[in-house]
Amino acid sequence: MKHIRNFCIIAHIDHGKSTLADRLLDYTGSVTEREKQDQLLDNMDLERERGITIKSHAIQMEYVHQGETYILNLIDTPGHVDFSYEVSRSIAACEGALLIVDAAQSIQAQTISNLYLALENDLEIIPVLNKIDLPSANPEEVTDDIVDLLGCDPEEVIPASGKTGLGVDKILEAIIERVPPPKGNTDEPLQAMIFDSVYNPFRGIEVIFRVVNGEITKGQKIKFMATGKEYYADEIGTLKLTQHPKQVIRTGDVGYLISGIKEAREVKVGDTITDAKTPTKNMIAGFENVKPMVFAGIYPVDTEDYEELRASMEKLQLNDASLVFTPESSAALGFGFRCGFLGMLHMEIIQERLEREFDMTVITTVPNVSYLAYSKKEQDTPIVVNNPSDLPDPSKMDRVEEPYIKATIITKADFVGPVMSLCIDKRGQITNQTYLTPERVELTFDIPLAEIVFDFYDRLKTVSKGYASFDYSPIGMRTSKLVKVDILLNGQSVDALSALIHADNAYNIGKKMCEKLKELIPRQQFDIPIQAAIGAKIISRETIKALRKDVTAKCYGGDISRKRKLLEKQKKGKKRMRQVGNVEIPQQAFMAVLKLN
Ligand code: GDP
Ligand code: MG
Repeated sequence: MKHIRNFCIIAHIDHGKSTLADRLLDYTGSVTEREKQDQLLDNMDLERERGITIKSHAIQMEYVHQGETYILNLIDTPGHVDFSYEVSRSIAACEGALLIVDAAQSIQAQTISNLYLALENDLEIIPVLNKIDLPSANPEEVTDDIVDLLGCDPEEVIPASGKTGLGVDKILEAIIERVPPPKGNTDEPLQAMIFDSVYNPFRGIEVIFRVVNGEITKGQKIKFMATGKEYYADEIGTLKLTQHPKQVIRTGDVGYLISGIKEAREVKVGDTITDAKTPTKNMIAGFENVKPMVFAGIYPVDTEDYEELRASMEKLQLNDASLVFTPESSAALGFGFRCGFLGMLHMEIIQERLEREFDMTVITTVPNVSYLAYSKKEQDTPIVVNNPSDLPDPSKMDRVEEPYIKATIITKADFVGPVMSLCIDKRGQITNQTYLTPERVELTFDIPLAEIVFDFYDRLKTVSKGYASFDYSPIGMRTSKLVKVDILLNGQSVDALSALIHADNAYNIGKKMCEKLKELIPRQQFDIPIQAAIGAKIISRETIKALRKDVTAKCYGGDISRKRKLLEKQKKGKKRMRQVGNVEIPQQAFMAVLKLN
């Protein structure tokens, strides 16, 4: 145990975690020349393309320091706020953290939120000033910022570059000298924490865990405490770039387990693995069931593909337990699914995976948060509203509650005014304002989660010219004055376009929705009235004028190939359209409410 070090790398997104991890692997000789490839740990295609880490991964390195061989378990963490629960579990599996700060960007919102998580778990923090090779780097100033934040000595901050490899030796030394070895008792019953799981279509779910007490041996009968399920440890081992099967994984170490588990939902991140016969009495603290934050409908473009979509979603769920879905039907779109996501990025990823991996073409409806509606009669049992059309009749309701979050924004002093007006415009209440340095300010707000879902990031970027970073955590439900704004096309209400909006903004947003839909819905052979309504009351109206001619008419029937091209183009455009009544609605229209100015 005294030769094991478990550490993670935490940072704001893009500050260089994955790149630095690659350099550590290089330096310790953990990868062969043939295996070298940028951002080795991001092995999902989508992760590579987007340059982000979606899932946490663990990797073991060996390093000789003053004649002694050490085992270093590096746990990479996802940087995006949608996946913060996974970050918190990865952190709980470590004794130390490299806190990476970009020498040009300095401290950002997620630097701080991840640091707080690490401090809550009593991790030893090793600050790393990264990207010092950049011409725009400000090493002195940013070192001062780090010293202020941590209350450490300037000498403790290690200057480094993931690009050139500078400082990597110092970082490895610091890990061995400053990060404490794991504690734990070898003689106690097995207690291991799951901090990740990986889906393998051939071998089933691979569980990644850290042994806190006792040891796990090959063939042992084990039990997952949160689910109560029992399995045999068919294969255990350590993770390098490939799996290395072992007979035993001991206290303090990190490993993988394969037990023929077929479904991701049987393995819960944060759960405790113990021995089935002599179980530990204590589950490792901090386990939570992940809760979806954002809901949206997913519908097949072609109604006939419903069953195929269901099969695809089921398969996707096998490897992403945080995706939840239930069948729903919409008067406008027919049969589909109401899906719950961890956040907007997660939603985009699911949609993209459905299209790439399962070849499905889907329509995603306006995302919304989950509301609680209290009826006048039954005050104790609120109705969970995951879809605006499920909102009960307002005359029968006592009140509606919506989820609130605490938002933390770090920006330059120049942009405090615009950022504040944006937050107030989004129904936020400022709770704190702290100058981290004379130029950099941290603002905290209580704000409805729904407002973050609706175009918040884009507008924050615009008002701060890109100099603002943002992070949030849920703080519970609060009563709000919400109304359902419906949209009627050609006199027919389209349920999939309904949204719950704060009463004070309803008129304004209804009007903007009509204007936006007029832009997005293509002209057809007849006039299409667009109306916004609250209950029976029409609050706004626009009209899409009829198209005068057939698009192919201008080809005069002469140029066949050009005509065919046009038709093909139309057909392609149609792929993402849904016929509702006699109106064709493109995918973007369902997202219109997110893109209002
Ligand atoms: P992560 O989001 O924290 O994992 O960040 P990445 O490792 O994916 O890096 C984000 C971007 O910064 C990539 O384009 C990297 O090539 C670049 N980058 C990372 N480290 C350095 C560095 O030390 N110097 C320079 N110049 N660029 C770097
Ligand atoms: Mg990364």
